[in-house]
This record gives sequence, C-alpha cells and structure tokens, in this order.
Amino acid sequence: MLERVFSQEEYMQKQAAVKYSDGKFEPIIDECEGCERTVEEDGTKYCKTYLYPSAKWRLGICNFATHKKPEIKITSIKVNPLKAAKRASKAKK
Ligand code: SF4
Repeated sequence: MLERVFSQEEYMQKQAAVKYSDGKFEPIIDECEGCERTVEEDGTKYCKTYLYPSAKWRLGICNFATHKKPEIKITSIKVNPLKAAKRASKAKK
C-alpha cells in the first residue's frame, strides 16, 4: 500500500489540528503545575508531550519537566596524596 507524502504545509496544518480535550489526553496533575509544556484548552490544562502525565510521575520526577530537576548529591572525597601514591605504586608491581 502506498503512503501519502504530506507537504510541509499540510503537515503543519495537521499538527495544528490537535485537540487536547477530545479524550485522548489526560489533564495534568498537581506536580505538573509550573511546567512549560502544559497547554490550556477549555479551562483544563494538558501536557503537550504526554498523553498521561500521571504516568510520568509514578516513578519519580518526570524527565521532561521544565520546572523540577532531580537532586544530585555531590560528595567530595578527601584523598591523602601519600596513601594515593603508595596505592599507585602497588598497582604498578
Ligand atoms: S512534561 Fe512532565 S511535568 Fe511537564 S506537563 Fe508533561 S508530564 Fe507534567
């Protein structure tokens, strides 16, 4: 079966015809408040990226969230230069 090739203009028109309130998109959840990927339609906010925003938060922070980033703890380890040199010389043998 042959696939129809869309021109760029037709593709843009097709993209603009996305209706968030047609039932495919679930409304955003509380954690999504403040994200730049939300769009409001008919008084309800939807996510432009995901159909089910609640699923993206089930296991932690949504990886596409623009308003929240995961905390990364950086711990500095003090290295005794004398012991490090001794360890390095042992490794060479
Ligand atoms: S990208 Fe993630 S945080 Fe942002 S609205 Fe969508 S689901 Fe919510």
